[in-house]
Amino acid sequence: MAAQVTVNEGCIACGLCASLAEEIFEVTDVAHIKAPHQAGITDSALIAKAKDAAAQCPTTVIVVTDPAPTA
Ligand code: SF4
Repeated sequence: MAAQVTVNEGCIACGLCASLAEEIFEVTDVAHIKAPHQAGITDSALIAKAKDAAAQCPTTVIVVTDPAPTA
C-alpha cells in the first residue's frame, strides 16, 4: 500500500520540507507534492523522509497517511 502525503492550508513556504525531502516536496508559493508522488509513495525510505518532514514542519501542515506503518 502506498502512503499518501498531503500539505494542508497554512504552509508558510519556509522550505524545510524540500530541504529534507527534495524528492517529494517542491516549494513555490506554498509546498507542493511533486507529481510522481501525488498518487502515493511506496518507497519506505521516501516515506520515512516524508514523516521526518511532517514532524519538523513548523506549521504542522504536512500529513502522511501510511496504511502500513514502518516499525
Ligand atoms: S516545512 Fe511546512 S511550512 Fe515549511 S514549506 Fe514545508 S509544508 Fe510549508
